[in-house]
Amino acid sequence: VSSHAPEHQGSIYARRAALLRGAMIDEGVDALILTPGPDMLYLTGFSEEAHERLLCLVVSQHAQSVFVCPSLNAEQVLLNPAGVTDIRDWADATGWHAAFHQVAGELELAGATIAVGDDLAARFLLPIQVMLPGVRFVGGGNLVALLRCVKDDEELRLLRRASEITEAACQAGIDACRVGVTEREVADVIERAITSAGATVSFDTIVAAGPNGALPHHRPGGRVLTHGDVVVLDLGATYENYRGDMTRTVAIGEASEEAQVVYDAVYRAGVAATAAVKPGAIPALVDAAARRTIELAGYGDYFIHRTGHGIGLAEHELPNIVDGNETPLEPGNCFSIEPGIYVPGQFGVRLENLVAVTDDGYESLNSPIPERIPVV
Ligand code: ZN
Ligand code: ZN
Ligand code: ZN
Repeated sequence: VSSHAPEHQGSIYARRAALLRGAMIDEGVDALILTPGPDMLYLTGFSEEAHERLLCLVVSQHAQSVFVCPSLNAEQVLLNPAGVTDIRDWADATGWHAAFHQVAGELELAGATIAVGDDLAARFLLPIQVMLPGVRFVGGGNLVALLRCVKDDEELRLLRRASEITEAACQAGIDACRVGVTEREVADVIERAITSAGATVSFDTIVAAGPNGALPHHRPGGRVLTHGDVVVLDLGATYENYRGDMTRTVAIGEASEEAQVVYDAVYRAGVAATAAVKPGAIPALVDAAARRTIELAGYGDYFIHRTGHGIGLAEHELPNIVDGNETPLEPGNCFSIEPGIYVPGQFGVRLENLVAVTDDGYESLNSPIPERIPVV
């Protein structure tokens, strides 16, 4: 549910469709096929999983967009906020092939170049390729992704709200950390805080204590928090489809000297990377700023992932803050800065905030990260 009046919504989606058509012309793409997911949501305000049934949006350079959908979803699709009215539904008994074939014929796609979204399943793409033998199929994953990575004011408002809820849930999780409590119990506290704030859990909450913290994507389990444990908490709330994502690291009862040294290196890496964020900055150099700090501290081999990822309708999207990404940042980009050090068998430290690039620098969507490891 959005607070926008329908006509304002319509103009947002009309603007996005116009930008997409421009990108399709630039890339020589006649049509784009998208299945449910963030791209469909971005373009129409609608997305609903249809699983093994084909539900797709066909965007053509030359005609109005068309939804092909299972009959059982037709009513929902009709309510799409973008106001796409051309909806071709198909029944289980007849299958989707005829409906799709009809649309392809009307759009004159027989000899066209068709881009497909990254998540168009083989069970659909393979029959479509057989159906349209003269078509050149190309990957369309970047067409909408490049539009999505520049957020407008309304998107930034929702991202800020998602981060506020995430922030409060993180604090609830930290407050729940004490000797004798399990990782799973802390994760439950976090997830309840998210849902009771009217949001949903964006991804499986990570609470990783002691040696588990050395696994960046550890799933919380029955490990009981113990005096001296370093605990990594990584969580996100989704508010009106926009996502939060933050990580804090705390120590239970006391922090060892090594934990303090490692925390300090990760903290300074985050500060160095964040200070490099502004319009025109090269993501590879933002990554390098974090990496160099951790290398100088002697833990370079233990920083085993990129410095950050874009965020919006998806938990991970463009831009990636990674070595090799030379595409300059621009206002409206929103991404994480999340350096980490993972000492195998011992512990891990990761610290993550989201930033949005502004006209002259950046805006942090999270509270400042504590300079020293909080002992709880
Ligand atoms: Zn991750
Ligand atoms: Zn995270
Ligand atoms: Zn992240």
